[in-house]
Amino acid sequence: MTNLFVTAAPANAAHQTLTDAQLYGLCKQYGQQALEARRKFIGLLPEVYRRRLYAKKGFSSINEFAAKLCGVSEEQVRLALRLEQKFEDKPVLKMALTSGAISVNKLARVASIATSENQEYIAEMAKVLPKSALETLVRDVKEDTRTSLRCMRAVPGHGNPQQSSMGVKSVEWEAEKSVNALRLDEDVREELSELQGKGIDISSLIREMLDRRREELAQEKQKLAEKENRRAEMREMATSREWRSKPSRYISAKIRRQLRKEHGNKCTIATCQKPATIIHHTQRFALSQNHDPNFLAPLCREHHAIAHTIDQKYRQEWQL
Ligand SMILES: [Zn+2]
Ligand SMILES: [Zn+2]
Repeated sequence: MTNLFVTAAPANAAHQTLTDAQLYGLCKQYGQQALEARRKFIGLLPEVYRRRLYAKKGFSSINEFAAKLCGVSEEQVRLALRLEQKFEDKPVLKMALTSGAISVNKLARVASIATSENQEYIAEMAKVLPKSALETLVRDVKEDTRTSLRCMRAVPGHGNPQQSSMGVKSVEWEAEKSVNALRLDEDVREELSELQGKGIDISSLIREMLDRRREELAQEKQKLAEKENRRAEMREMATSREWRSKPSRYISAKIRRQLRKEHGNKCTIATCQKPATIIHHTQRFALSQNHDPNFLAPLCREHHAIAHTIDQKYRQEWQL
């Protein structure tokens, strides 16, 4: 007892001299190593099970083996064994599991959409995306395998609803889900039905208004885009060092207002109903160095993570 105390004391004293940053750094480092080792341990379990190694070594079951040696739960053991069978025809994912490169929890989330054709893509996504974004990705793929992924690539075209697949999807989706839920104030409803009573075509009237709105938005956007690009050019030509080093990451209130007018307050991905939380640059900011609204898309946190993963090059520019 005394011995233990004596050897423990200097270690404690050493920890006391650490700065917060150093202490936190050590916690993160050891934590990461522990998690990695745990994933690797779980990856060994299918082979342990196949050889009945647990019985040979005196454990009553694979569950006891996993719990005693590494504190792994029965649920995780079950997942590891089930996933290994499921990935029989998907060697990339099977390798990700048995090598411990990706956790069983993440692999379990993507297992339902994995095929032998998309396994590499799925493994890459599972490796870099946080769990919540993975769930969104799985839902998108299930909902519509083709559209949702093409959507993410088509983001630069989102301003033109007739052309981008996202816009097309949006129109269909709107028609399906929310025409019946169209909310009109009583006075608007009254005025419209009065006009209709006079034999005026309400649809063409509203269409005209919508056309005008679209036109106005497009013009406003064009102006903002020109201003942004002019500023970037000037920065390019400037010789003064301070001026050159100031491509501001701040997006002006005017541009934000324009985005809100065009996209509302929800994520730009048509099938997504989550609030937009991040303005995403569909062209890498580090290269374009401007906030041309044609290349900005308000996204929810999950779709933002997915957008960055689809184009690996964008991963450095994560948060605005
Ligand atoms: Zn982004
Ligand atoms: Zn979203």
